[in-house]
Amino acid sequence: MTAETISFPLDPGAAALLTRLHAAGHAAYAVGGCVRDSLLGQTPHDWDLCTSATPEQVLELFGEAHCIPTGLQHGTVTVKHGGELYEITTFRTEGAYSDGRHPDHVAFVPDVKEDLARRDFTINAMAYNAEEGLIDPFGGQNDLAAGIVRAVGEPQRRFEEDALRILRLYRFAARFGFAIDPATGQAARALCRHLDCVSEERIAEELSRLLAAPAPGAYLEAEVLAVIFPELDAAELPESRRILDALEPGMEHVPVRLAALLCPLGEAGARAALKRLKCSNALTGTVATLVREAAAGMPGAALTLTAKRFLSRYDLATITNLTALCSARHPEQAEAFAALQQEAARLVETNACCRINQLAVNGRDLMDAGIRPGPGLRRVLDALLEQVLTGQLPNEKAALLAAAAQVAAS
Ligand code: ATP
Ligand code: MG
Repeated sequence: MTAETISFPLDPGAAALLTRLHAAGHAAYAVGGCVRDSLLGQTPHDWDLCTSATPEQVLELFGEAHCIPTGLQHGTVTVKHGGELYEITTFRTEGAYSDGRHPDHVAFVPDVKEDLARRDFTINAMAYNAEEGLIDPFGGQNDLAAGIVRAVGEPQRRFEEDALRILRLYRFAARFGFAIDPATGQAARALCRHLDCVSEERIAEELSRLLAAPAPGAYLEAEVLAVIFPELDAAELPESRRILDALEPGMEHVPVRLAALLCPLGEAGARAALKRLKCSNALTGTVATLVREAAAGMPGAALTLTAKRFLSRYDLATITNLTALCSARHPEQAEAFAALQQEAARLVETNACCRINQLAVNGRDLMDAGIRPGPGLRRVLDALLEQVLTGQLPNEKAALLAAAAQVAAS
């Protein structure tokens, strides 16, 4: 197929903005991820445009009231159109990268091909509009069809310019299940020490997006992982990869996959590693709980009692994550963990009493019955819950009050 014959539907808002830019005499294209995703037959989640118009011309054309001058010095204006936001970036080249992450300066250029040359991978370095079709100077379309992620230009230089591209390489390859061009992969492995130029937050974000991929195991490069988590033992990697690939993909499952990866470090080690990457307290806590409980393994007690004991400490979402993690780690026990998850779900559904606040008596009832407030009261409530969980007592007020008097007296 020749470039002229390629066509795909543009988002209507993006098409309208391109038409306005063209009418004002500027070159303009959809570019990057939206072109790649369209060619893959996937729906782009946002539409970035590039243009020969300067940021001032873009502001002038669309009116400042409709624009957010987000990245003006880098040439990016965000335009509001039809309730959506579109980033319009002036064609640019980048100067030297003395910090291994950001260009020292950018220069605006008239030719889209120069702009495409500064982009990271061939599959991300294509531009498109309806009139000219696909602009693809680096063979992105071929690489997309062959399933290859390849650096634009000299891979070593491109990773030296911006080490974040090393993580983006594995992230995009994992997301699409693509192979990595050998020279690109070799440069990424050789230069992964340069990841120390990348902020912890960006590393954590890229790692999360990598871990959200369908089967990220093969894309967790040992050399790269050794830079991000030097405390992980490389000997654990094959097993970690197997477990990761057995878990559900998607951003919502990233905490479970992080826990799977960090299980060998134990709870304290996992916490320390995530703290170093400046992960949120919420994420760190979620992962730490999963790591701790996964190490504890499946309790031997009867199913319902086990499920109730878990529900006395954790919500159903945590139990679902934990049983998924344990099943992936111990496939031979997968049925038992699935049964535990189902039983927990059933107990929640039927509002079974698993927590003190679900008891048919509360602290006030006990105080009214003459039990003094303080640690003794808590001890009585704990004892009542235990008897309800084990089925020794019904969760009924009269029975609980009678038992409370006995416990308090003992
Ligand atoms: P996603 O669907 O994940 O958003 P994307 O391709 O849109 O994918 P972005 O991070 O949004 O990725 O970047 C938009 C485009 O900007 C990329 O397609 C690529 O052309 C270019 N780009 C982004 N980051 C870099 C970088 N670090 N180095 C070079 N080019 C980059
Ligand atoms: Mg994007």
